[in-house]
Amino acid sequence: MPVQSEIALRTVHHWIGGAVVESSSGRSGTVWNPASGKPQAHVAFASAAEVDQAVAAAKAAFPGWRATPLSRRAETMFKLRDLIDRNRGRIAEALTMEHGKTTADALGEVARGLENIEFACGIPQMLKGGYSEQASRGVDVYQIRQPLGVVAGITPFNFPAMVPMWMFANAIACGNTFILKPSEKDPSVSMLLAELIREAGVPDGVFNVVQGDKVAVDRLLEHPDVKAISFVGSTPVAKAIYETGTRNGKRVQALGGAKNHMLVLPDADIGMAADAAVSAAYGSAGERCMAISVVVAVGDVADPLIGAIQDRMRKIKVGPGLEEGNEMGPLITREHRDRVAEHLDSATAEGATVAVDGRQDPVTQREGFFLGTSLIDNVKPGMRCYDDEIFGPVLGIVRVKTYAEALRMINDNPFGNGTAIFTRDGGAARQFQFDVEAGMVGINVPIPVPVAYYSFGGWKASLFGDVHMYGPEGIQFYTRAKVVTSRWPDPETSKVDLGFPQVR
Ligand code: NAD
Repeated sequence: MPVQSEIALRTVHHWIGGAVVESSSGRSGTVWNPASGKPQAHVAFASAAEVDQAVAAAKAAFPGWRATPLSRRAETMFKLRDLIDRNRGRIAEALTMEHGKTTADALGEVARGLENIEFACGIPQMLKGGYSEQASRGVDVYQIRQPLGVVAGITPFNFPAMVPMWMFANAIACGNTFILKPSEKDPSVSMLLAELIREAGVPDGVFNVVQGDKVAVDRLLEHPDVKAISFVGSTPVAKAIYETGTRNGKRVQALGGAKNHMLVLPDADIGMAADAAVSAAYGSAGERCMAISVVVAVGDVADPLIGAIQDRMRKIKVGPGLEEGNEMGPLITREHRDRVAEHLDSATAEGATVAVDGRQDPVTQREGFFLGTSLIDNVKPGMRCYDDEIFGPVLGIVRVKTYAEALRMINDNPFGNGTAIFTRDGGAARQFQFDVEAGMVGINVPIPVPVAYYSFGGWKASLFGDVHMYGPEGIQFYTRAKVVTSRWPDPETSKVDLGFPQVR
């Protein structure tokens, strides 16, 4: 039986066919406020029938939307861009309430998501095909790109505004209709985006939201009318979604977890490297797929670097994201916070050195899911604190003697999302860019998330599928090519020819 205070909580429902649709599945989850540690809403968990209802709405909207002129679709994206821009504060606040990240960080997330809407405003240019006149005598060949139909996006808790925008901006602009299955941990932003999308003039049924868990995802994966799935989340789920989705004949891009290494060479500027490591490790409480979770210190750079990192850690203000001045908020749930903290015990047991223990931070006395910043020295591959993604405010330091040793370790890691090198030597940086096996590389940039007119994606266990997300590869993912060969000959010249057509 739910307690009295829980009964009064609002429920986040679905958005289907341009309106809120109340769930009747009888299943729901709790949305926590990570800063207070208290439940703040319920979220409906869709039944398979409710997913079918969303797919039917998206399918019905597809012919009309697909036939809508490109310039009209672009105009709609411009309006949406303007609406999201004007509602940055509202979106950021809803996001902080459920995710916990600070207001500044939430505004940054909205800004990086908005880039994708801006990119999609240029859809007429991006959908231009190619035309070859006189490919053969009197024969022209041209390629057009057409939308796929109903496509779905399944998103993680850590970017409830940006990751959906990575997906739906291009998907819709290309003429598809879209179903979003947001994280059940912070579902409200999806409903705010749905309202803005409707206000921008996107026809009903073009954008839909089904709230839920594995039941909803499984139905999307098997539904014959869903043509493509974009997924962002943890690696085991990404792998399963890729395997099931492709087995069911769908186009799938599934982005997984990460272990992002920051390589610091002996010639690096120590202050700059420490600033970068601290910002990238502890920003958003380390709950970013592009967070730096390991610093690989080459040669004698380790001791001064660790000193500079600790100086900066001491000054980080941890507390509720909505309170001004705080730089790091809580973790998403109590269970996740405890799982992150367990890595500090395992690190000690396995021979690493916990230099700063976030469990000692007074912020952990608060009611929310708080953990202070932690630093683990003498980390090595094979230890849990190295092998696991962790996904919290815990930074490991691996000491190595040479660049070659560092590179081998980074390339041997099963993940290949992002990586960074800090050095003053252009030649060394260029060599790293050439050698390293990761999809996104920063040179003196700790979080190299590509701007929206490039594409985002890792290598190895960080991405399942062939095509990266958003940008030009996003357009490729959400369209399929059709090549037309055409001629208008004089019927008088026509004759039977059983030979295979060839250029004459
Ligand atoms: P998650 O894998 O638990 O959940 C992601 C989505 O999948 C959610 O919508 C969730 O409801 C759904 N889901 C969860 N378990 C499922 C199951 N068994 N079957 C079907 N669906 C399931 O991930 P999360 O905890 O929300 O997000 C954190 C993870 O996402 C981290 O591993 C992080 O690195 C990764 N991430 C990766 C990127 C990237 O671009 N590579 C970006 C953001 C987050």
